[in-house]
Amino acid sequence: MGDIAVNINKIKTELAGTSARLIAVSKTKPMSAVQEAYDSGQRDFGENKVQEMTEKYEALPKDIRWHMIGHLQRNKVKYIAPYVHLIHAVDSVRLLREIDKEGAKNNRIISCLLQIHIAEETTKFGFDKNDLQYFLENGELEALTHIKVCGLMGMATLTQDTAQISKEFEGLKVLFDEFSSKFHFRNFELTELSMGMSGDYQYALGHGSTMIRVGSSIFGERNYG
Ligand SMILES: *Cc1c(COP(=O)(O)O)cnc(C)c1O
Repeated sequence: MGDIAVNINKIKTELAGTSARLIAVSKTKPMSAVQEAYDSGQRDFGENKVQEMTEKYEALPKDIRWHMIGHLQRNKVKYIAPYVHLIHAVDSVRLLREIDKEGAKNNRIISCLLQIHIAEETTKFGFDKNDLQYFLENGELEALTHIKVCGLMGMATLTQDTAQISKEFEGLKVLFDEFSSKFHFRNFELTELSMGMSGDYQYALGHGSTMIRVGSSIFGERNYG
């Protein structure tokens, strides 16, 4: 077995007994690396650039489930709308409306996660609790017929302070539990909680993550991205 397969198997062993799935983050990595992961049985892959994801989608096996995990610009939604499996980082109502519009054009319902701002850094995107509450109560969601919000996503602060990371993931889990019991609409049913990356997924698993997004621990360090 190559390194990539070994790394994937190791993480999958850690996931046994949890309800979490592995999203292999292949951004910046070549097709051959994705193919190697695929050959070991991996089917869910995450990318953060529209063009790169689309090139990989076109070249690689069609049963791969492609996850857009990065910040998505509204004018690029159209390129991924025909095939994307799940958009993780929806951070505005305007983006959600655009995804809805492109979903309609493609005659599909596109699954989305809403990104919640949990980190200390002000640069990370996302809704805060009040934005989300307002959006869910103002009725606007009802009009969106070609999206389905099926969970929340968050990124913890990049820090060595594991207590802080745990606190942030725990906060997201509390919000997830609250909103998943409080709000049910035809197109809003929270079941997925996407949190945890190479450096912090153990903490995320401890707080109920259902999807970990792991790149460098599988494919090695990136030079950029
Ligand atoms: C790059 C990226 C990851 C994976 O990061 P690693 O530290 O390499 O595991 C996860 N989530 C998002 C949103 C990313 O952009």
